[in-house]
Amino acid sequence: MLPVIALVGRPNVGKSTLFNCLTQTRSALVADFPGLTRDRQYGLGKIGPLPYLVVDTGGLSGETDAIDALVARQAHKAIEEADAVLLLVDARAGLAAADEEIATRLRRSGKALFLVANKTEHLDPAQATADFHALGIGAPWAISATHRRGVDALMEAVLAAAAAQRPADTLPALERTTIAADDGSIRLAIVGRPNVGKSTLVNRLLGEERVLAFDQPGTTRDAVAIPFEKDGTRYTLIDTAGVRRRSRVDDAIEKFSVIKTLQAIEEAHVVVMVLDARQGIADQDATLLGYVLDSGRALVLAVNKWDKLEPEVRDEVRGELARKLAFIDFANTHYISALHGSGVMDLFRSVRQAYAAATRKLSTPELTRILEDAVATHQPPLVHGRSIKLRYAHPGGQNPPVIVIHGSRVEHIPDAYRRYLINTFRRVLRLHGTPIRVDFKAGD
Ligand code: GDP
Ligand code: GDP
Repeated sequence: MLPVIALVGRPNVGKSTLFNCLTQTRSALVADFPGLTRDRQYGLGKIGPLPYLVVDTGGLSGETDAIDALVARQAHKAIEEADAVLLLVDARAGLAAADEEIATRLRRSGKALFLVANKTEHLDPAQATADFHALGIGAPWAISATHRRGVDALMEAVLAAAAAQRPADTLPALERTTIAADDGSIRLAIVGRPNVGKSTLVNRLLGEERVLAFDQPGTTRDAVAIPFEKDGTRYTLIDTAGVRRRSRVDDAIEKFSVIKTLQAIEEAHVVVMVLDARQGIADQDATLLGYVLDSGRALVLAVNKWDKLEPEVRDEVRGELARKLAFIDFANTHYISALHGSGVMDLFRSVRQAYAAATRKLSTPELTRILEDAVATHQPPLVHGRSIKLRYAHPGGQNPPVIVIHGSRVEHIPDAYRRYLINTFRRVLRLHGTPIRVDFKAGD
């Protein structure tokens, strides 16, 4: 499971700057989807081969009165779900009362804590951090988020501590079903905001008893892998607590966890994003969709509670949703009723199709031939009177499929031409249900 790192600190210490610094690596795909905000509170990052999830809690000011209660609750929840917590302080401003209040609260959390003194780029590290020892959560790490100084060393220590927080063999037996193991089944995440009908859909797939069996004390930690078979295909449901805990926790909002949702997306081959037909695309849907697109996972959209719409408004709702989702041109949309089961068979046909597309083995000759045809049909535009040459293409990864194109002056390829190439590869290879990434490399 993806380790979760929470950033905590009073305003202006540099949390969002560090957040951006830690999550920069994953922006390539989302640039292709205009209209989705990059202003995110949760982000994926990578140091070396190790991926992690960062949460900018934003909300802990230390001044209890001033805290918006809801924001604070989210922040506390993030801390609860985190494997390591970074308390940021401002080395230039020195120790503040709010730092002490936050530190006191964090010490009670029992989490792996790191004290991070930011803005140290022109300061002597020992002097800059001296005051902060008083916070009682260990020796401060001196960094500069804007200069990306000290950040890699800090993160290596943080990730090591986060891994140590999760001794695998102390987990109950059910939890140990390893999610990463590739057993040939389709790993599926069913996501969506509270009350859209995720649990109902899962119950329909697994049968009520099955879900209850997993809802025993001691089995409710983190996401868990639940194998099932449907129409002769094997699946592994990467469950989120929000889905599983339905029978115990009434408050859908409380049980919903962005962190567990994002972890499940990351572990999945295919994401089924569930929407409520009566509510269109709410802000929270758009944000979640943004994360799914960011992850590069194959995607199927399920517009649920279709049974609740009067037949005479269905065409209008369908049209409205199609317009709003038009920018996701690769994913199928299904109108379903999880409660009654209508549309669920077709939904799973799309899941299988998306999986096949996302994991398809592509070959260099095949990709190069498609590239040559595409270029013959539409030349790349000239840059300063000189032509861009695209020579050959080879596969660069799966889930999502990555196509690496070698050529000259490729840094000048406009977005529109990149999209043209992606659409051509998609059409010719029939890669439906998955995003496709095209990376350009200069030279041979
Ligand atoms: P947040 O409120 O904790 O999210 O803080 P921000 O990330 O918005 O940063 C607050 C201010 O501090 C901004 O003006 C940043 O540019 C600045 N800042 C952040 N990190 C550094 C740093 O490493 N060095 C310096 N000199 N300024 C920084
Ligand atoms: P979750 O929070 O996304 O897991 O949502 P639930 O599965 O708990 O569903 C929330 C509510 O919507 C419950 O009362 C369900 O019975 C109801 N519901 C779910 N799917 C459907 C559906 O297809 N049709 C109708 N009419 N109600 C549904």
